Amino acid sequence: MAATIIDGKAAAAELRARVAEGTAEFRARHGRAPGLVGIQVGDDPASELYQAGKAKAADEAGMISRRVVLPAETTQAELDALIDELNADDTVDGMLVQLPVPDQLSEVLIANRIHPDKDVDGFAPINLGRLVRGEPGALPCTPAGVMWLLDRAGVEIEGAHAVVVGRSLIVGKPMALLLTARSATVTVAHSRTRDLPALCRSADILVAAVGRPEMIRGDWIKPGAAVIDVGINRTDAGLRGDVAGDEAAEVAGWLTPVPGGVGPMTIAYLLANTLDAARRRAGEDTETGDE
Ligand code: NDP
Repeated sequence: MAATIIDGKAAAAELRARVAEGTAEFRARHGRAPGLVGIQVGDDPASELYQAGKAKAADEAGMISRRVVLPAETTQAELDALIDELNADDTVDGMLVQLPVPDQLSEVLIANRIHPDKDVDGFAPINLGRLVRGEPGALPCTPAGVMWLLDRAGVEIEGAHAVVVGRSLIVGKPMALLLTARSATVTVAHSRTRDLPALCRSADILVAAVGRPEMIRGDWIKPGAAVIDVGINRTDAGLRGDVAGDEAAEVAGWLTPVPGGVGPMTIAYLLANTLDAARRRAGEDTETGDE
């Protein structure tokens, strides 16, 4: 039986509508809209595209978005000064620095500099610590978006064996923590994992966040499994996921397409985090992306 294709665009539209509603209510209560600032260093075309997409989505949700593009040779001290300024600016609820940044800049220093209350990417050590501890805080957008998709699709998480392929700070590690918090039994795989195909075949939920086009083949998938393809790989043949989609669709129970699966959820969650940041800074405690 062919897999149910999980429509990430529709799921993201649902969350974005919820954010737009919450934003209008916030504005009515506080007389201002939540503010999001995107910082880009250099003129990498992919970063440009991502930043423009985020700003447009924030505007559409009724937020006030601002983009700052700094020259590629910006120093850490210059970037720190801008972050400090935005940390102190009461009209700014969230900020993010588009990754990757040029070599002279440190992602670690950036994550440490952004005030945790304004860290809408969820990469600040304090927010990652809150995630480990199970306390409320900004969640990394991509894995949080995956949880939203699994829930919308009706995939049973509790007690399931989830295999997360990839252990990055942005996707794999927080993904494993979120699945664990929902009582999945989680295995994290990476480039040194032995017999990855056999491990993947034991997964009820398989999350691929590797960055290798179509590495995960159809015969690596347990029949009926939920397969979440986080990968975005630009190839000569076009955009490809980390999963061989046509093969997976024959075996899996659920499958996210690339594009149109996880990607749209990442931006939707960024908006949810921005609204939540504004609410928390105003002393409120609603979690927009929660059930
Ligand atoms: P990273 O490069 O940071 O991490 C990749 C992970 O995959 C590493 O843990 C690495 O292992 C592991 N890996 C690499 N090769 C293999 C292999 N042959 N077998 C098993 N594991 C392997 O990538 P990200 O987590 O940032 O991104 C992963 C993918 O997701 C990319 O395609 C990226 O474009 C996409 N992405 C999509 C987003 C979206 O919105 N949909 C958002 C963020 C990312 P090791 O640690 O051992 O090196």
